[in-house]
Amino acid sequence: MLPVVALVGRPNVGKSTLFNRLTRTRDALVADFPGLTRDRKYGQANYDGYQFIVVDTGGIHGDEEGIDEEMAKQSLLAVEEADVVLFMVDARDGVTVGDQAIATHLRKQDKKVYLVCNKIDGIDATSAMADFYSLSLGELYGIAAAHGRGVEQLLTTCFKPLADDYPDVIASTKEDSEDLEHDEIDYEDLPLKLAIVGRPNVGKSTLTNRILGEERVVVYDMPGTTRDSVYIPMQRDEREYILIDTAGVRRRGRIGEAIEKFSVVKTLQAIEDANVVLVVIDARETITDQDLNLIGFALNAGRSIVIAVNKWDGLESDHKEEIKRELDRRLGFVDFARLHFISALHGTGVGHLFESVEEAYASATQRIGTSKLTKIMEMAQDEHQPPLVSGRRVKLKYAHAGGYNPPRIVIHGNQVTDLPGSYKRYLMNYFRKALGIMGTPIKIEFKEPK
Ligand code: GDP
Ligand code: GDP
Repeated sequence: MLPVVALVGRPNVGKSTLFNRLTRTRDALVADFPGLTRDRKYGQANYDGYQFIVVDTGGIHGDEEGIDEEMAKQSLLAVEEADVVLFMVDARDGVTVGDQAIATHLRKQDKKVYLVCNKIDGIDATSAMADFYSLSLGELYGIAAAHGRGVEQLLTTCFKPLADDYPDVIASTKEDSEDLEHDEIDYEDLPLKLAIVGRPNVGKSTLTNRILGEERVVVYDMPGTTRDSVYIPMQRDEREYILIDTAGVRRRGRIGEAIEKFSVVKTLQAIEDANVVLVVIDARETITDQDLNLIGFALNAGRSIVIAVNKWDGLESDHKEEIKRELDRRLGFVDFARLHFISALHGTGVGHLFESVEEAYASATQRIGTSKLTKIMEMAQDEHQPPLVSGRRVKLKYAHAGGYNPPRIVIHGNQVTDLPGSYKRYLMNYFRKALGIMGTPIKIEFKEPK
């Protein structure tokens, strides 16, 4: 589990600048769910060795009325899901009425709040910051989000009290020892954690109920916050599973439930914690940008995925063809993920999902020896010579597994890091085909002799 950090503050204080700085190092995959409430941006941050989920709550003026007030409240709801709140103010503006209103709100919450004074570059920071002690939010931290000054110290302070609850906050740096670790893990004996994720109303609860069998449905009125998923152990064909239910098995028919029960943070946490992610989409809405964002987030997190196109019942065959064409077009970047057309309502196709879940998990965790990987690498090289780099032919020497779940393949050779992206992709696809890897992303790394 990763901790969640929310950025709160008036417009223009520098929230997006900080957000971008924190998420950039991680190929900038941002799960953006506009329109859910107010625009919030969710991203996975990997900064100075710290890993966490960061939420840009959108700007709040602090003096909103009417509809705006409602939106501001919604934005502050994101605060409830956070472990840490960074309340950002602008050092150059001094304390504004809006800052005071937001501070009043935050003081009422039982949350760890850090008051972050941004844009301290090029000014007398100490005197500019002094003003903000009047907000009575404790310690003040000066940063320049645009340049990175003070950011690392701020994170170190924020995460120190969280280290026990969130051991994963410190990114693992021991890459080379992963082979050994893997040998000690017997994936076969571990329960497979399967997260069922998707936008509101695509049919996640219906599918969860269907998988569990109607008679076993229990209403979970579990204590905990809105961001907790329900973990349900189950068995199927000799294999232990843990379903990570982001929808929450619940009583039916409550008004307003769809929005309430859906939480992006919950979804992102479930993906982080899963072995395989079952992404549910609604056939009747084809595929939306939000679906693609979710898939992108899961792959970026290194998770295996299976895609279920739900509500496939009662559609005209022309309509089905049209949906399939659209899916083909937009899912080209995950052509290695199995696509299932199902009806959670009637149960059609649900059983077959598990074949793909098993396949993806097996692909992600299979052990692959050095000689086999090197052989495949040589075949790829024979079929298609690497291009010249600075006038010299790149030579691939050998390949070995650098880790599993997702599989990491390390290729050694001269000048290999300078290979163009097109050749790297060619190698990736070649390995994928030769090894029959389905459902999981693969990572390829290149190493040159020192
Ligand atoms: P948001 O509305 O809170 O998301 O604010 P933005 O991140 O869009 O920033 C508003 C403006 O402040 C932009 O013009 C940024 O370039 C500028 N800005 C952000 N951080 C800094 C900083 O550390 N120093 C200075 N001088 N300007 C900054
Ligand atoms: P969730 O928000 O993703 O958990 O979605 P629900 O499981 O609550 O389903 C939302 C709505 O879609 C409900 O009215 C379901 O009855 C309906 N639904 C779910 N699965 C199917 C399906 O396979 N076919 C049809 N026609 N409707 C479905």
